[in-house]
Amino acid sequence: MTIPIVYLLDDEPDMLILLADVVEMTGLEPRLFTSGSVFLEQVDEVEEGSLLVLDLFMPNMDGIEVMRQLAKKNNPPALVLISGHDAGVLHSAEELGRAHNLTILAALPKPLSVVKFQQVLRPYAMSQPCGETQSFQPSWRGCAPREVQRAILEDELILYFQPQIAIQSGEIAGVEALVRWQHPELGLVGPERFIPIAESYGWMDQLTSLVLNKAILQIQQWRAADFDISVSINIAADNITSLALPEQLAGLLMEKKLDPTRLTLEITESSLMGELATSLDILTRLRMKGVKLSIDDFGTGYSSLVQLHRMPFTELKIDRSFVSYMTDDREARAIVKTCIVLGHDLGVQVVAEGIEQPSHLNLLWQMGCDIAQGYLLSRPIPGDDLLAWAQGNGLAALRKKEFGWLNA
Ligand code: C2E
Ligand code: MG
Ligand code: MG
Repeated sequence: MTIPIVYLLDDEPDMLILLADVVEMTGLEPRLFTSGSVFLEQVDEVEEGSLLVLDLFMPNMDGIEVMRQLAKKNNPPALVLISGHDAGVLHSAEELGRAHNLTILAALPKPLSVVKFQQVLRPYAMSQPCGETQSFQPSWRGCAPREVQRAILEDELILYFQPQIAIQSGEIAGVEALVRWQHPELGLVGPERFIPIAESYGWMDQLTSLVLNKAILQIQQWRAADFDISVSINIAADNITSLALPEQLAGLLMEKKLDPTRLTLEITESSLMGELATSLDILTRLRMKGVKLSIDDFGTGYSSLVQLHRMPFTELKIDRSFVSYMTDDREARAIVKTCIVLGHDLGVQVVAEGIEQPSHLNLLWQMGCDIAQGYLLSRPIPGDDLLAWAQGNGLAALRKKEFGWLNA
């Protein structure tokens, strides 16, 4: 493996030197550019798996233009955006990059926090040990389709579970099942590296079926240990095209003697954009069979209020991009607040994901949000560890003191 190259593009030479120092300190290789057009001339030779740290405000060609040009390239580098302007501009640029299908690793304000910059780079440095925090292979490195197919066929996929906590009571309200690939050589590989491949090769029905069966098995194991809990699983756009799905799922749940109301299917807002009539048919019948439905990554798609009104959802999950900006950015806070009011007025439960700071949790509590999910409460963990977490120190510590919201 070669050391990932970090391209640095900023018109200020002092800034470039600072960035290059940090990149080198982290064990990566910097390449410096002060002009967007010069960088773009060379970008065709950019190595796969490289990173670009991009200043938004530059004379001649600015960062927005650079992103637009990169979007046309075959293997664009993953981006770290930096800017001295207000948080709103940085956030809009981040969204714009994602709309161009670019991978945006972070958007960092200037003056730059070296610690934050290092945190972004660290997973890309070669010498990192494995563990849930750092073992993920960088998501921008796709895997070979052949390998992904093997992972599905040879049962190399496993589930991790992330607790969801009822904000008002501090009780565990459920868990979200998140798939990982236990790769024989690479260790634990995150879903962003293989789900896009499974999606483009039409393997999502197989993958979801594996996830569902593993989740059911885990629920049964927990139940045998007297731990009865609701589980959410993610389903893809492809999964809601089969009209037979509600009956198949209901049949499986009955066979395993599982209460359908303990299962929530999370569907991203953007996957509902396709065949509306078919998805409405399937989702309505799933609901009629008792399965719960959640709109995932809410706020990032473009669903109209009319669509929301038609879809039989029971839960709305506010995307983590709004939650993580909520304490610093007035607009993000307004969006979170509006989503909570909207969800409650529609009679559905509201979940906030991506809670990393106690201040996020406090604000959500004040806003009346129902459920919290995020690294602050717990990272996704293996099923066996979850039982210990819920019955032992993890949840107890949360309840006791860390987060004053429960004592208030
Ligand atoms: P998602 O459904 O929105 O899941 C939440 C993602 O946010 C998870 O990433 C979780 O680890 C991460 N997360 C949770 N709390 C925090 C936090 O406080 N900070 C940050 N930065 N991240 C947090 P993960 O496991 O990498 O999954 C990424 C996406 O991959 C999921 O987003 C989901 O869209 C997809 N995915 C995962 N498992 C499955 C699956 O079994 N089937 C399908 N179709 N998609 C899946
Ligand atoms: Mg989800
Ligand atoms: Mg989500």
